[in-house]
Amino acid sequence: MTTRKQVISPFHGEHDHSLCQKDALKSAIIECEKQGLRLTTIRRQVLEIIWAQHNPIGAYDVLEKLQESGHKPAPPTAYRALDFLVSAKLVHRVESLNAYIGCPSPNAKHQCQFYICSECGHVAEVNNPDVSAAISAGAQDLGFTGQQSVIEVHGLCKDCGQNAP
Ligand SMILES: [Zn+2]
Ligand SMILES: [Zn+2]
Ligand SMILES: [Zn+2]
Repeated sequence: MTTRKQVISPFHGEHDHSLCQKDALKSAIIECEKQGLRLTTIRRQVLEIIWAQHNPIGAYDVLEKLQESGHKPAPPTAYRALDFLVSAKLVHRVESLNAYIGCPSPNAKHQCQFYICSECGHVAEVNNPDVSAAISAGAQDLGFTGQQSVIEVHGLCKDCGQNAP
């Protein structure tokens, strides 16, 4: 289990997003090397599309953006690339939105929690090992084998909360 505890807040409108994208690509390359995986062209393209913004994007929109950019992969190829990114934990599926978001701190085994702003749609990922530990402890008490936990908190980010009437 990861001991990393970090809060990455995409909840600030004005920032140089190209840095986020550059960082994301760099960490993805490093993580793939670590896991012995290949970041093929299509996988990289899908990752870049997902990282084009801090809002989650649906699988169909990823496909559309790929086609707009002149790539015409068969849909299964694009969806397989997406599956790959999820299983390598470079990208997460936000279940409640049925959409995908880039992971700011990818590594093979991390657990994460999401804070989702219902106003601007931005999603922040938090890796809090205490939360994961509490869920595991609960499972143990029940003799339950947990496979994955999804914690998605919906609400308002600071900016949107301040602008709310
Ligand atoms: Zn950014
Ligand atoms: Zn993550
Ligand atoms: Zn917001």
